[in-house]
Amino acid sequence: MPHGEAIGIDVGISHFAAVSNGKLFPNPRPFRKLERKLKLLQRSVSRKVKGSNNRKKALLKVQKLHERIANVRAYYHWLLSHNLCDWGGMIFAEDLNFKELARGFLGKHTLDGGWGQFFQVLEQCCRKRGVFFLKVDSKKTSQICPECLTETGKKELSERIHSCEHCGYTTDRDVAAAQVVLIPWACSRGTHGSCMLSEGKAVALPVTKESPSL
Ligand SMILES: [Zn+2]
Repeated sequence: MPHGEAIGIDVGISHFAAVSNGKLFPNPRPFRKLERKLKLLQRSVSRKVKGSNNRKKALLKVQKLHERIANVRAYYHWLLSHNLCDWGGMIFAEDLNFKELARGFLGKHTLDGGWGQFFQVLEQCCRKRGVFFLKVDSKKTSQICPECLTETGKKELSERIHSCEHCGYTTDRDVAAAQVVLIPWACSRGTHGSCMLSEGKAVALPVTKESPSL
């Protein structure tokens, strides 16, 4: 059941996850190191004679490292999930299917981040701890001001700050995106300032400047 404080999360490139309360979780850099090591080990396997004992030994090393990477990743995902559950009674996350991340040069980052797996862990963690969890379809989290709901347009990846020309709200862009994830919920409860202007009606995303109700 929905209860307690609602927090929104957004996953991204420059931070692993951003939370609507302003917290930012860094990318787990250790993976990079371990993955580089994995590549080296795999190369050493390919250089060994097939069927040889040396090859078997090298293969075992690869397998061990695979396990270690999976463990480190799972540990990080659980740590983060528990952290999030400490903060809120309800967690809203942007559904990854709608992220533009999986395309183009960002594809590799998407895989590295393991966000799909993270959401599975988060969902499990929420169930264990009685926290309400919901994936939200919000396609334009980085293009809307969480404060006044004005569409602020696409941001370049290098633009790290959300600064609204309309209302002046300024915050980290990923935090802003995490706050946008919460808008449908806040609007449905009539607790969002800008939604109350529209007579308590839930405002579906995206909201444009031309929207007469604003
Ligand atoms: Zn604004």
